Amino acid sequence: MSEVQILESVQIFLQRQHGHFIHGQHLEVDRQRLALINPATEQTVAHIAIGNQQDVDEAVESAQDAFINAWADTSPYERGQKLNKLADLIEFYAEELAQLETLTTGKLIHLARHLEVAQSVVFLRYFAGWATKVHGQTMQPSLPSMNGEKYTAYTIRQPVGVVAGIVPWNFSLMIGCWKIGSALTTGCTIVLKPSEFTTLSLLRVAELAIEAGIPKGVINVVTGTGETGQYLINSKHVKKISFTGSVPTGIAIAKQAMTNDLTRVSLELGGKNAAAILADANLDEILPNLLQATFVHQGQVCAAPERFFVHQSKYDEFTQKITAALQHFKIGSPLDESTMFGPLSNKAHFEKIKHFLDIAQQNDQIICGGRVIQGAGYFVEPTLLKVRDVDDPLFIEETFGPVVDVIPFESDEELISMMNHSRFGLTASIWSNDLSKALRLIPQIEAGSVWVNMHTFLDPAVPFGGVKASGLGREFSDAFIEDYTELKSVMIRY
Ligand code: NDP
Repeated sequence: MSEVQILESVQIFLQRQHGHFIHGQHLEVDRQRLALINPATEQTVAHIAIGNQQDVDEAVESAQDAFINAWADTSPYERGQKLNKLADLIEFYAEELAQLETLTTGKLIHLARHLEVAQSVVFLRYFAGWATKVHGQTMQPSLPSMNGEKYTAYTIRQPVGVVAGIVPWNFSLMIGCWKIGSALTTGCTIVLKPSEFTTLSLLRVAELAIEAGIPKGVINVVTGTGETGQYLINSKHVKKISFTGSVPTGIAIAKQAMTNDLTRVSLELGGKNAAAILADANLDEILPNLLQATFVHQGQVCAAPERFFVHQSKYDEFTQKITAALQHFKIGSPLDESTMFGPLSNKAHFEKIKHFLDIAQQNDQIICGGRVIQGAGYFVEPTLLKVRDVDDPLFIEETFGPVVDVIPFESDEELISMMNHSRFGLTASIWSNDLSKALRLIPQIEAGSVWVNMHTFLDPAVPFGGVKASGLGREFSDAFIEDYTELKSVMIRY
């Protein structure tokens, strides 16, 4: 099949002199520029500006001004309506946004359409619904009255103010929309700093926000590198940092946030997620779902499994069937709708994955895959590795790519001990029809999300976040509200 035609509007957008999006408009700045590379071809598709302290200050001041003078006083109903309108516009321009994502991340075009863009719309609409449902409580004070006086008390939830949203490169549009939705529905304003590799779709969303009637300054986007992110998190008007990215950066940011007068911080970080395939699992039934959940977006998904634990009785059948299935993955251009597996998203990540594959090659650990595809683009094969024991470095480090380890287990005790042998605790799954066993295992697994007969599946109505080094705080459901609002207690004597 041939590649999809790049829309004229996308070509025009790419050719723009990209700046930041501050106070409702594109701000062209004379700054050092960075090339955005198409990972499938290694060709430059656009250039972005590297934001400096002055740019960040301007964006944060605009967000602070919009918070005080526009957004916090907008009625909850109106906030919900405007978020819904933004969702409508993202839906209307879906193909344009999907193509921008594919061109800069190497994400398969059907994934960009049906997951990245479509889910951005779904999540924004979910958050829009919360705007009218954030509330405090009334309570009866408990201490006895001394002289017959009475007391009553209630709480109100107030938006914290300006949020700094730091976004990684794997799902920039969708993760950016999670942060926009959480901030705006609770009455906060936001300054987004997308990854330097995948900046364009959020610049476009900020434009659409103005079309949706969201007041200028409520959503700002400053482009640039980690240094730009540093300026942002250290800004005195930033009252909350919502960070999604790697563990080392997350920990460094949290330390800084604490020294900056305890700025609130929520962290969605990495994982080395486990999938447990129990003895009763029917491999022919589960493998299509398991493979999809594992190798979606070339494994560059924080929630995807990277460690397979397979009951000893099924180990050989499992490795043979995975090997056979992976050989049928059609690797190629992400703009070709028949492609099943595209490139890694950027050169730095490609080099990191090549390093893991080299180690596995040297140690004779490759069961299938393991090769780098020669030619233009950052392509590697989806790979399954065997590990000697749970202290194998390849079993410990997050690859954030299409490199998965498999290890057999015999007893439930051994399974739980190996699954929990990790500094991470983002997600896990159990594949079995023995529901009674699954229900007994679930509480013992150290992870923020546990799925049964599914994996890598996020729903806005279900909280998401990590335990241990995988994060702090929860997104979605009603769990996000506490992070974006201050709870004020009021007591009245009468
Ligand atoms: P990084 O931590 O390198 O970067 C994340 C974001 O932080 C980027 O925008 C980056 O900018 C910015 N940044 C880098 N350094 C700083 C700094 N010192 N101060 C402020 N901002 C900074 O992660 P990646 O982008 O490489 O993303 C991959 C990681 O993210 C993986 O570990 C993955 O597991 C995790 N992740 C977690 C998710 C979750 O929900 N738990 C979801 C998606 C990814 P720049 O890119 O310009 O350097």
